[in-house]
Amino acid sequence: MKYQKKSMAIQQLANGEIVKIYAHIFTSSKPGPTIYVQGNLHGPEVFGTALLIELVQEMKKNKDFKGKIVIVPCANPMGVNNVVYNGITGRWNQQSGTNWNRIFSISPLKNRQEEIVFYDNLLKIEKLSIESKLAAMLRSLSAGADYVLDIHTTGIFNTDHLFTYSWMSEDFSALQAPVHLLLDPKTTVCAFDESHVIPFLKSLTKKEVPKVATWEAHSHGYFDNLILKQRLSQLLNWLRNTWGNESKQNNKPAIFKQYAHLTAPVAGYYCWTKKVGERVCAGESYARVYQPNSGDFVFAKAENDFVLLGIYGVVATASGEQIGWVAK
Ligand SMILES: [Zn+2]
Repeated sequence: MKYQKKSMAIQQLANGEIVKIYAHIFTSSKPGPTIYVQGNLHGPEVFGTALLIELVQEMKKNKDFKGKIVIVPCANPMGVNNVVYNGITGRWNQQSGTNWNRIFSISPLKNRQEEIVFYDNLLKIEKLSIESKLAAMLRSLSAGADYVLDIHTTGIFNTDHLFTYSWMSEDFSALQAPVHLLLDPKTTVCAFDESHVIPFLKSLTKKEVPKVATWEAHSHGYFDNLILKQRLSQLLNWLRNTWGNESKQNNKPAIFKQYAHLTAPVAGYYCWTKKVGERVCAGESYARVYQPNSGDFVFAKAENDFVLLGIYGVVATASGEQIGWVAK
């Protein structure tokens, strides 16, 4: 087994310090798939970094893996350092307003070799915007991978779920996320996962396209020790299955094609009466909403059936603002 820790300079700060991205690369003498795993692309989603540092430590002891695995625990050191009073705000670049997971190219590519050359050449350009540089650096690390897993988090409470394409959902079943949300290849937002699939849809068969998923593994800005251990065990289970070291566990997730932000039907201070993972039926109430003007409270009721996947962190909200994440 060969282990290499690679550092890449991503940005020079105003005071002259250099910010770097670190990749941990493990190569086995046994042939097998190339797997790329990253976390913390959005600044507040620090859980991915902790989880992947745990994975790096596991990999240092692992003698059974096959192929190659590239682990980038903290994919966006700029985002992590944007902090305002008890919260990390780096979901967007604070200067440009760009969402850090909407920066990836989905332009057509002929094959996997062209992908590697494309990103290597992009990195050689000196004066890229910081968004383009981050995209080029992360994609140069993941180019050529057979499996790509991008670890994110949702809200202050979240039931773990993942985004993937319909034809690769089964390849991630061993990750044991209870819910899979299917991405639509026709609707793209230039996210990291999409940049591995959309460019090849006309040039490669579905079998040849890399398998990708974005795993919403926990909540923003915080990690629970027990959940950290559970997610590590899920991640190792998926890796063992992908390496072919264990028979495939048929863990059937609930699959949804439709998912959306839940918006506040009324303004006020939300006290949730439903928990993440619960199904809410049309007409049923899911929160008691305190009304500061009247001194009373009302109930927020569901317009349609949904499964509550994530609850966002804002307790006091104006009407129509995003308060949660649901599958329908
Ligand atoms: Zn995210």
